[in-house]
Order: sequence, then structure tokens, then C-alpha cells
Amino acid sequence: MRAKTQMLNEQIRLLMNDFTGQAVNLHGQLGTQPVCHAASQEVLRRVASQPIPADGRSLQVVYSEMLQDIYSNISFAQHPRSFSCVPSTMSLLSWMGDVMTSAYNPHASCQMNAPAADLVEKKLIRWMCDQAGYPESGGGLFVSGGSIANLTALTAARDAKLSAEDRSRAIVYVSDQTHSSVAKGLHIIGFTSEQIHLIPTDRAFCMDSSLLRSSIIHDIALGKKPFAVIASAGTTNTGSVDPLPEIAALCREYDLWMHVDGAFGASALLSEHYRDKLAGIECSDSMSWDAHKWMMQTYGCSVVLVRDQSSLARSFAAHPEYLKDAEASAESIEFWDLGPELTRPARSLKLWLSLQVLGSKEFGEVIEHGCAMAELAEGLLRNAAGWEIISPAQLGILNFRYVANGSLSSSELDHINQDLARKITESGFAQIFTTQLRGKKVLRMCTINPETTAQDICETIGHLKAFATVHVDWNALGQLQASHKRR
Ligand SMILES: *Cc1c(COP(=O)(O)O)cnc(C)c1O
Repeated sequence: MRAKTQMLNEQIRLLMNDFTGQAVNLHGQLGTQPVCHAASQEVLRRVASQPIPADGRSLQVVYSEMLQDIYSNISFAQHPRSFSCVPSTMSLLSWMGDVMTSAYNPHASCQMNAPAADLVEKKLIRWMCDQAGYPESGGGLFVSGGSIANLTALTAARDAKLSAEDRSRAIVYVSDQTHSSVAKGLHIIGFTSEQIHLIPTDRAFCMDSSLLRSSIIHDIALGKKPFAVIASAGTTNTGSVDPLPEIAALCREYDLWMHVDGAFGASALLSEHYRDKLAGIECSDSMSWDAHKWMMQTYGCSVVLVRDQSSLARSFAAHPEYLKDAEASAESIEFWDLGPELTRPARSLKLWLSLQVLGSKEFGEVIEHGCAMAELAEGLLRNAAGWEIISPAQLGILNFRYVANGSLSSSELDHINQDLARKITESGFAQIFTTQLRGKKVLRMCTINPETTAQDICETIGHLKAFATVHVDWNALGQLQASHKRR
């Protein structure tokens, strides 16, 4: 085996040298490329017909195939004009950290396996707890994403607030804008849809705290056991932030766990300018915060934070006999005691590399830039006839709709706006998706990529306007033809 490995290693060295150059170049020139490279039918057929071979193939060949067929044919969420979903803000520093981490492959489950990596994770968790305003008792861990962060926190909430008998009458509150991962997580940990009460949002898409209060009172009167409220700090649709201080006060009054889903928006804590928007988050019991969204990290980098670390240990500490030798002491709490994973990659190291090299101030500037780009787009559309702002720029997210001259029905406008999203995305210039707000299909832009320029925004809005104009002409043409036919 070993002789073969040595031969392979030499090839790996050469190919990786080549790859590093390619990857850095690609990242630097993304803006000159189409956002989305859809794989052709031919490529998909090629991949589909490739079996798992009994005898291995040439590394050079497989490497080239994978570069060409797999890696090249993706939607580049890190493209400066990718405005759909939550785009990636990845820095090459994070990629470099990923490469270093996977090369050394530390088992980041406990102190003994990788003491300094363990310390880095603890330091970052403490630093993030400080940003959130959590006390010394706070803690948490790195997980793969906001969905798992939510799941982990919700498990702690359940075990902190409910006895086994209480579980069947338990109620948890979310808003109509809460991310779908929350309901998914609640289902995984045993709650039915009927136990998840949806609180309507107000005109600004924020949870209506007076309706929350009346629901809690109503449910208690029915003999139910309210136990948690999921507030959002930066909803995925509009970037709205729920009234955290009011929700915190209700949670205190009724002894409920307050979880803040800040997967997208918690990064705003890093900006002097925007952190006030999250005031009240310091009163929560737990929160989710994705570093792979607005902290320039490649995927698989998120944290769950709790006000009291023992609440995670209560739910997740296991102490099996085969891990006794790796425990620092009988009482020690290791990362494997704080969440569902045992074996886990050292997800914090790439963030450490990025923060050490760029400094925390730069992260704040990235937030401010993202917000400014959405505000710029909003300004361009407010001054244009035929466009309506549905939700103003909030934490780098803008929702708007083409409404033409106001004479078209809502379903016609739904159709047109869907088509505008499709057209700009198919053009390859920018990627924009629609979302549904108050029953209307609207265009949504999330402009958080630090590489996005004002020119990118102006040209994107310009393209949308041009597509919309063509639409109206078609429409006029269609009506003309229809009236001709009638005659
Ligand atoms: C993205 C997002 C999630 C899910 O996070 P993943 O990292 O995609 O698992 C949860 N909540 C909010 C508000 C989000 O924006």
C-alpha cells in the first residue's frame, strides 16, 4: 500500500499546486463570469454513466473530469451578483483555513485530541457570546449550519422547560416569517405541527408581540404548557428583526425559553452602526449564528450559543465508557457533551484564520457595505415609475415588485415578476429569486457580498427595468392582438 500511496502523493502535490492557482484566479474573476453554470444534459449523462470502478483510474483524469463536469457547473453563490437566497460571502481565507483543517484532520470533539484547536473554539465562542451580551455562564459550539444550531438550541429549550409529562401539552411560538428549519427541528425533537403556534407579523414583518401575549394567555387557559418563543433577528425573507425586548419581557413573565434565530442577522452585532437593531438579544436563552452567511466563511460554519452552557450539557452529555480515557476529568465538559455530534471537524479554525488576518473591524465594514448596497437598490427603484417597494432595505435584504402602470391584476403581476426573476437569472448576469409576501410574488435581493459594487447594483436594476419594459410592450401587443381577433 505504502509505495502506491507515495506515488499518488507526488501526483497530488503537482495537481494541488495547479489547483490552488486556478481556484484563486477563479475567485478573483467571478464577476466577469455568468453567475450560474447549469450542467448540460451531456455532462449529467456522463456523470450518471460513470460507475464506481473496481480498479482505480488515473488521478489526473478523474481530477480533470471533476473540475470540468462537477465543480464548474454550479450556481456560484459567492458571485458578486448572486442576490438570491442568502448568498455566500466566502473569503479565500476561509477556504485556506478549510484546506489546512481538512489536511490535518483534527478530531475536534474534546480537549485531548486537539488542545489548541479546542481552545480556539472556546475563545471564539466566548467572543461571540460577548458580542451577543451573554454572561460568563454562556457557551456553545460550532455546528454545520443554522438548521442544526436551531435544532440544538430547541432541544436544550425542551429539556430546560418541560418534564416528560409536559411534552404532549407543550406549545412553542414562531412567527409567520420564522425560518422553516425551526419547524423541522421541532418535528425532529418530537413536537407535532399542532404544538407550533404561528404568530402573525405586523406590517414590517415583525412578530406582533401583543398577539403573542394573547396566544400565551389563551393557551394557558386551555391547560396547555407554553415553553418557548422563537424570535428572529434577521428573517430570511425581509431581514426583519422581531421586537426582542418585548418578547424577552413576555418570556420572563411566563417562564418561557427565548431562542433567537440569528442565523442570517446575528452578524450585524459586529457593526457599531447596526448592532442596536438587535438590542434585546442579550436577554435570550439561546441563539443561532451562521458564520457561513455574513462572516465570509465557506459552508459548514455556524454556532449555537446559550446563555448558560449547562443547558446544552443537560441535553447532550453522555459519558460512555469508551470515551473515559479522552475526558480531561470526570467532571469536564467536552464539545461532544454540548451537541448531537461526536466526531466533528474543527469548524472554528477557518474563522480564527479570517479574524486574525482581517481583524474584527473589517467584519463590521462588510455588514455596513451589504446594508448600503440594498439601500442603493431601494433608492434606484423608489425613483423609478412602475416599481413598488414591498419591504425596504433591512440588513441587506430588499423586496420589491414591478407593478407597471397599476392596471394589471395581482396574478398578472405575479406572473410578470416571476418572469423577471427567471430572465435575469437565465441571462447569467445576476441571480435573483422571488419570494411570497402577503400573498404577492415579489422580487427579493440579498446584497451582502462584500465584493458587490455600486455598479453591480445599478446594472442589475437597469437590466430588470429593461426586461420589465419589454414585458409591458408584449402585454400591449397581446391586448392589441386580442382586440384584433375580437373584431
Ligand atoms: C439560513 C437560515 C437558517 C438555516 O441555516 P442553514 O445554515 O442553511 O442550515 C435558519 N434561519 C435563518 C433565519 C436563516 O436565514
